[in-house]
Amino acid sequence: MVRFSEVPQMNEISKTRQCSHMISSQKLQNSSENAEQSMKAYQKKIRRNRKKHFFELFQNEPEFRWKQIEQAIFKKKYYGWKDITTLPKHITAELEKKIPWMSIEPVKIFESERKDTYKAILKTENGEEFESVLMKNKRDQWSICVSSQIGCAMGCRFCATGKIGLKQNLTSDEIMDQYRFWNTFLLKHPNLPQRISNVVFMGMGEPLANYENVKTTIQTWLNVTDLGNTRITVSTVGLLPILDQLLKDPQWPDVKLAISLHSADSKTRQEIVPTSMQQFLPKLEEWAKKYLQKHGNKRHHLTFEYVMLRDVNDTLKNAILLANFARSIDNVKINLIPYNFIDDAPYQKSTNESINRFVRVLEKNGITVTVRKTMGDDIAAACGQLIQKKYP
Ligand code: SF4
Repeated sequence: MVRFSEVPQMNEISKTRQCSHMISSQKLQNSSENAEQSMKAYQKKIRRNRKKHFFELFQNEPEFRWKQIEQAIFKKKYYGWKDITTLPKHITAELEKKIPWMSIEPVKIFESERKDTYKAILKTENGEEFESVLMKNKRDQWSICVSSQIGCAMGCRFCATGKIGLKQNLTSDEIMDQYRFWNTFLLKHPNLPQRISNVVFMGMGEPLANYENVKTTIQTWLNVTDLGNTRITVSTVGLLPILDQLLKDPQWPDVKLAISLHSADSKTRQEIVPTSMQQFLPKLEEWAKKYLQKHGNKRHHLTFEYVMLRDVNDTLKNAILLANFARSIDNVKINLIPYNFIDDAPYQKSTNESINRFVRVLEKNGITVTVRKTMGDDIAAACGQLIQKKYP
């Protein structure tokens, strides 16, 4: 957010220039350099919405022109505005000068030893860094794990992102460009499989705390890419008022949802997820039933994610509580996540024995359960590790 006090006023800059005859040439040079620097700093802080910026520049252009542009910028093998040959030349020329082709730029990219995971440190136009991850999936295609915020206000105790607090929401351009960024990355690595088939909102941030930007991003992807609605998953800590809003919102895209449950015992959940509250579980149960009535079908279930923390939430009693909670809702899948170690967290990884016991209890109760494969932990790209180490 640019505060007015940070913005150099144009009249201040020109005032400096008008008074130039009264000051020494050295002072003049210093002051105009300062003005230029402030202007650059101001421009650096602006993160203009691409669509809005376009219509500011071309006020008489019809709406379809933007649709044409949006289709084009997601096309593979387009690397800049000049590649869009369907646009009138004067528009392309102006776009080249005024609107950045990408709202984010890479700072550094890491490759896991197994070459199945890549993590990018990306920078926004106002100079803030965040991370995005590309992971090979079982179809030998790619899933991308996108960030929706820089930092996070939820403070989940097992998560490195939660430790830095919330820095800023990402704009819809910055979220959707993570898909464009990874597509371009793959084009430059023709030896790798080329298709991004899935997107998960499991990077930095709580997506529902950035509702409108996440919604716009998903709507755009569904319109202009080959991603279908069951190939996009929004993972949330479970912000109940926003979950309610989403149920009533006819514009909310019908994508998959995953709720980070982490415990079916209220007290334990509040310890792991400090934003949780006493009545969270019964309220979630009520909401989940309404959600599944509206959206649920064979391909569209609700997932509960459950990070396995040794002696915290991985006992037999915890497994039975979880099985009972899931059964009370129906059409729920459980995804168990082996904990990935981060600095200064009070947790240990559950043993394989405890994870297997959990799986047995859940399956015995007729619940579909999967155990998430740990990927990219050697480059701090695994679940909960983002922004843990900037340059491992
Ligand atoms: S797990 Fe997700 S919601 Fe919790 S602190 Fe980390 S990024 Fe935020």
